Amino acid sequence: MNLIDTHCHLYLDNYDADLPAVMERAQNEGVEKFYLPAIDSTVIARLLETESRFPGKCLAMMGLHPCSVKENYEEELQLVEEWLARRKFSAVGEIGLDFYWDKTFTDQQYDAFRRQLLLARLYHLPVVLHSRDSLNESIELVKSMHDGRLSGIFHCFGGTLEQARRITDMGFYLGIGGIITYKNAGLGPVLEQISLDNMVLETDAPYLTPVPFRGKRNESSYLRYIVQKLADIKQLPVQQVAEITTQNAQKIFGA
Ligand SMILES: [Zn+2]
Ligand SMILES: [Zn+2]
Repeated sequence: MNLIDTHCHLYLDNYDADLPAVMERAQNEGVEKFYLPAIDSTVIARLLETESRFPGKCLAMMGLHPCSVKENYEEELQLVEEWLARRKFSAVGEIGLDFYWDKTFTDQQYDAFRRQLLLARLYHLPVVLHSRDSLNESIELVKSMHDGRLSGIFHCFGGTLEQARRITDMGFYLGIGGIITYKNAGLGPVLEQISLDNMVLETDAPYLTPVPFRGKRNESSYLRYIVQKLADIKQLPVQQVAEITTQNAQKIFGA
């Protein structure tokens, strides 16, 4: 079984003690690639270092996370721009809107989001989108900036059927992660009605750990619980779900 973790933060210090073991466990479960979303300037060195430690397996993205859009966001964006001009990245991400934690910088979040979508268009890169308490707003903004070539993932999808349809109608993908295993999330009935052709798998490690490890540190080997749950919902063999979602990820990232 070949799986791709389209969203994991394996460079964070949560893995300082045992990253090689984490990677090995994941590879034993068939996870062959790991896409690493950026957050802000404080993680870039570790992000790039992790990528070069596992060449061809860990692939870095570049972007400014909406929760890191603060007073200094112009400087942060400047850095993102410089890096994107300097070398190739797998995607612009993670970018988007987050109104859950703090709404102080809402205007700046919109500005940063818009400008990074433009960068994705400029460099012909997919986008990896983070939206919390802001899914409709994120969908609207992407729609308004869509030039027919924008593509990417609404990561950690937890929305309604209508939102899922609006996303897939734009040619975007749903990033399916640990919350699919949470009973109260109610994602099953939504995903039942959406084609697997519009989904990719992710852990968002170290966050959003799937059942049965909910509450503990997440890691990419737990992708097996996510693919299993999705297979149960779709009433299809795990192998088939793995194959389709892996092909989708390859299509998005061009690898
Ligand atoms: Zn996120
Ligand atoms: Zn993330």
